[in-house]
Amino acid sequence: MFSYSETRNAKHETQNTFPMSENNFNNKFLHTPYSKPDAYGALSMPIYQNAAYEFATAEEMEAAFIGKIPEHTYSRITNPTVQHFESKIQTITGAFGVTALNSGMAAISNAIITLAKTGSNIITSKHLFGNTYSFFSSTMAAFGVETRFCDLTNIDEVESHIDANTCAVFLEIITNPQMEVVDLKALSAITKAAGVPLVADTTIVPFCAFKAKQWGINIEIVSSTKYISGGATSLGGLIIDYGNFNWISSPKLHVLSKEFGPAAFTVKLRKEIHRNLGAYMTPQVAALQSIGLETLSLRYERATSSCLNLVKRLETLTGVESVNYNGLESNHFYELSLSQFGKNPGAMFTFNLASREACFSFLNKLKLIKRATNLFDNKTLAIHPASTIFGPFTPELRQEMRVSDKTIRVSVGMEDVEDLFKDIEQAVK
Ligand SMILES: *Cc1c(COP(=O)(O)O)cnc(C)c1O
Repeated sequence: MFSYSETRNAKHETQNTFPMSENNFNNKFLHTPYSKPDAYGALSMPIYQNAAYEFATAEEMEAAFIGKIPEHTYSRITNPTVQHFESKIQTITGAFGVTALNSGMAAISNAIITLAKTGSNIITSKHLFGNTYSFFSSTMAAFGVETRFCDLTNIDEVESHIDANTCAVFLEIITNPQMEVVDLKALSAITKAAGVPLVADTTIVPFCAFKAKQWGINIEIVSSTKYISGGATSLGGLIIDYGNFNWISSPKLHVLSKEFGPAAFTVKLRKEIHRNLGAYMTPQVAALQSIGLETLSLRYERATSSCLNLVKRLETLTGVESVNYNGLESNHFYELSLSQFGKNPGAMFTFNLASREACFSFLNKLKLIKRATNLFDNKTLAIHPASTIFGPFTPELRQEMRVSDKTIRVSVGMEDVEDLFKDIEQAVK
């Protein structure tokens, strides 16, 4: 049976009577109705800071536990505040099911464990977020799940790696720090033909600017710690299921798909995997990130336009060997990125200096920009990826991952762009 929060989310989407225009992203976020009227008419979803829920009768309790009625039972499984956050995202993305977890890594691990079993394989690239790489190559490998690393920009190579045991093709839409972009139309055409779900980490370009479903993505993963949280307020992760995949060809979900059709992934995730792994988002975080959503497109516009402004000027500075940003016309992926992500593809860029020593000296001279990891804080952050995020990997592996000792990564925040440029300029000197 499939009935509880997901179906309820889908229903109350239509409760709002104001005829909103099709692309009214901000209105949709701001005015997603509650699933039940609030007792006090609270204009912000209250934080339901409770573990369990009381029932009037044993019969009602039974019905809730088996999913016959859409009532909450325990906050590890569903919670009204988290569900409201999920339904806001469902409203704007048009997804079938949205699950909020307590970090981006929790979203990745929950999604992959929903799809993979011993003997299955995952196709991805070595150009991945460090923990995601380690999750595939160590954590999943220990359970007999093979990861086949290949060049995802080479569609023939991807196709030749797919077989009957392939449970997912996983990618990051803009890799970090390489800034590699895959042709999503071409990739999704072959995954669709092969009956393999396309799972994409879209953290770098949020759903206000990138419509994953239109590019054939089946499962979208977001670290909501980044843009969504509203300035690094909290950790979070999202699994967005577009309900656009036929799970009959999935090594793990084919039996469920006979009963649930395109809902099989979300049923498996919500009824088993996420309950057992126990990494559901907490209500305080959902409240913070709901506020973050309200200003998402505004912050994205500002940060990405500052980013483009900075990279253009950075290209002219002596001492800077190269600047890597998909929004620069000189970038190898410019056209592809423009078609998929628009003219401002995210607020992260990298640049190369002469050496590792020059990078360290640059970081040490920064006065306004913070030396820190993380992306899309309201503050601008800079890091030397090779010695930090990728520090645990061998130099050989870093080379294969194309993480250079000469690269600085910058995540652009909300500061006045003139000051940001001045800080970079004085630190490069
Ligand atoms: C940060 C990040 C993650 C991990 O998210 P957490 O919220 O830190 O667990 C995954 N993928 C990408 C692209 C990221 O930038």
